[in-house]
Amino acid sequence: MNSLLLIRYGEIALKGKNRPFFENKLLNNIKASLTGLQPFQVTFRRGRYYVDVSEDNLFPALRRLQRVCGIVSISPVSTAELDLDHICRQTLRLLRTSHQPGTTFKIETRRANKNFPHISPEISRLVGAYILKNEPGLKVDVHDPAITLNIEIREKEAYLYSQTFPGPGGLPAGVTGKGLLLLSGGIDSPVAGWMALKRGVEIEALHFHSPPFTGEGAVNKVLDLCHLLATYGGEITLHLAPFTEIQEEIMSRCPRPMLITLMRRAMFRIATKLAQKEGIPVLFTGESLGQVSSQTLENIVAIEKVTDLPVLRPLIGLDKEEIVEISREINSYPISIRPFEDCCTLFVPRHPVTRPSLEKLIKAEEEIPLEELIDCCLKKIESRTISSEQGVYN
Ligand code: ATP
Ligand code: MG
Repeated sequence: MNSLLLIRYGEIALKGKNRPFFENKLLNNIKASLTGLQPFQVTFRRGRYYVDVSEDNLFPALRRLQRVCGIVSISPVSTAELDLDHICRQTLRLLRTSHQPGTTFKIETRRANKNFPHISPEISRLVGAYILKNEPGLKVDVHDPAITLNIEIREKEAYLYSQTFPGPGGLPAGVTGKGLLLLSGGIDSPVAGWMALKRGVEIEALHFHSPPFTGEGAVNKVLDLCHLLATYGGEITLHLAPFTEIQEEIMSRCPRPMLITLMRRAMFRIATKLAQKEGIPVLFTGESLGQVSSQTLENIVAIEKVTDLPVLRPLIGLDKEEIVEISREINSYPISIRPFEDCCTLFVPRHPVTRPSLEKLIKAEEEIPLEELIDCCLKKIESRTISSEQGVYN
């Protein structure tokens, strides 16, 4: 037997002439999120999507859809024939699966099919009377019911639903353009990536690792974070950039307190070149003002000087508690706190500069063959595409 899910979207309904583009993008993202749950069918009618899946796949599909950016809510739907008696029986059945004795309810009917012989308030009244007769423990409350039973009279059948599950809302990933996310294995950057996805940005991720100092665990962590992000926004391309040589050169030839700032400047230079090669117009980071010494306003300015791309920082005004809360909600937290070293945490200087002088940074960079090192790193970047299906978060 097949089951049906009704999907509602919010913000994209407001987008005027771009509406079909937004709706198509969401349709594709919905289909992508269900990969592996075949056979399924997705249709779009009157501003709603309907997903037809096998009964066994109903809850797995619901769980996946709850992560698709752009979706506001989802309801599992039962169907009934276009016959008042059948609608009454099916509505009662639906109510019996979800109600507690003494529950209050209300019926709301929408009649899209005007050929149906009863008007909406009449259907609500007749079905309500049938339910009260057969379940005497229930009461009607039209103002604040515990359960709202929805009946939609459509062309060929009636749809009945009483439960609504929230989606993430926002915009479908991909409608606003592309961004390159600097993704560490920490708590912040995956949250920044999720926030970008939720505003419709398609993400490519860039991670710097320092083998053999950072092991396979660190890369696996980033792969898992990408799998997770892919469940919210479709496929993610991950670029893995080897950073060991640059790091060693900076470590051995530059003043220690400048280490982090110099490393970030090198990362931003590489990110910029990669983004330009990939035709990506903007960088995203997980920086939040003042959180650590490398995120003072002065350091942010000194780091950003090396790129002419806009750098967007969705977390700039959030404090750590707020970021952790989001990371728990989106499930990145358990991955982010796995104890693997990141290339930066390995070599943190004891007293990093908080007010770097641009002149001194440039002078320090002249001590190392920066251009060569950056070109070499860019050549060694390994890229792979990660889909939500490969992950363990379905
Ligand atoms: P996060 O939790 O994202 O690691 P953080 O609070 O640890 O952030 P920093 O270590 O200063 O802050 O990093 C600031 C930002 O620089 C990160 O949010 C991320 O965007 C980027 N970044 C840091 N390390 C890496 C890395 N190894 N690869 C890619 N980007 C990185
Ligand atoms: Mg970090």
